[in-house]
Amino acid sequence: MTDSIIRSVADLREIVAGWRQEGKRVGLVPTMGAIHAGHLSLVSIAAKNCDKVIASVFVNPTQFGENEDLDAYPVDEAKDVRNLTDAGTDLVFCPGKEEIYPNGFSTVISVSGLTAGLCGPFRPGHFDGVATVVSKLLLQCLPDIAVFGEKDYQQLLVIRQLVSDLNIPVEIVGAPIIREDDGLAMSSRNRYLSPDERRVAPEFNRVLTDVAALIKAKPDECQNICRNAREELLELGFASVDYVSVCDIETLELLKTYRHPARVFGAAYLGASRLIDNLPVD
Ligand code: AMP
Repeated sequence: MTDSIIRSVADLREIVAGWRQEGKRVGLVPTMGAIHAGHLSLVSIAAKNCDKVIASVFVNPTQFGENEDLDAYPVDEAKDVRNLTDAGTDLVFCPGKEEIYPNGFSTVISVSGLTAGLCGPFRPGHFDGVATVVSKLLLQCLPDIAVFGEKDYQQLLVIRQLVSDLNIPVEIVGAPIIREDDGLAMSSRNRYLSPDERRVAPEFNRVLTDVAALIKAKPDECQNICRNAREELLELGFASVDYVSVCDIETLELLKTYRHPARVFGAAYLGASRLIDNLPVD
C-alpha cells in the first residue's frame, strides 16, 4: 500500500494502466473529502472486491448552488489522505480545480427524469454538476467498479443511469448508509450542527422510520402521513422541510399509494445545515 497523492489525470492514467497490465481489478470511491466512517465503508467494499482502490477527493464547485456552502465546505487534505490510506486506499486522486475544469471547459452531462423530483427542484444544477464530475472521474480512472452510498440515493440512481446511457464500462455498486449510534446518517455536513441541533438531528431518521411503519399500515395514506411528518419536523425545531416523500426505488416516482418496493426520502434544514436521509419501507 502507498500513501501517494496523485494530482494529474496523466499520472493517474499511467498508474492505472500499470495496474491493468498486471491484471489488477480496480475500484473507485469518489468523495468530496471531510472523510468519515461512511466514506471508509465504501473503501472497504471496494477493497473487498478489487485489488487496487482509488479514492478521489475533489470538492466539486459545479454541484453547489449559489447560496450553498461551497466556501465553508470542510477541507483537511492531509487528514483525509491518512484516513483513506489507513482504510485500504492505494491511491488518492486530489485534482485541482483546473485539472477537472480547465479554461474553456464547456460540457455538461444532464440526466433527466430521475432528477425531476426530490432534491432536483430544490438544488437547481446540482445533479448536472454531479453527473458531469462523476462522468469525468469514471473516464479518468476507468475502474472496474465504483462505489457510491445509498445516503445519496437519488445520486446513486442518476449515476447508474448515466453509466448505462453513455456505455461507460464500469459496475456501479451501492453501499448501505452508515449511521451514528443514535440513527443520524453520517455526513460531512454534520460537523456544522450546534450541540443543540446535534441533539435534535436524530429525530430526522426517527420521523422517516415512523413514516415507513405508518404507510405499511395505511398504504393509501402516503400523502397525509408525509404531510404530518413534515409538520412534526417543524415542531421539533427544523427550520424548514424541503420534502418528506415515498417513492418507487427504481424510478423515484412519487407514490400516493404505497406499493412495494419503495423508500422514504427526506430533506430538511436544521439551522443552516441541510440534512438528507432515506430508508427502505420494508
Ligand atoms: P460526499 O463526500 O458527501 O460527496 O460523499 C461521497 C460518497 O460517500 C457518496 O457516494 C456518498 O453517498 C457516500 N456517503 C456519504 N455519507 C455516507 C454514509 N453515511 N453512509 C454511506 N455512504 C455515505
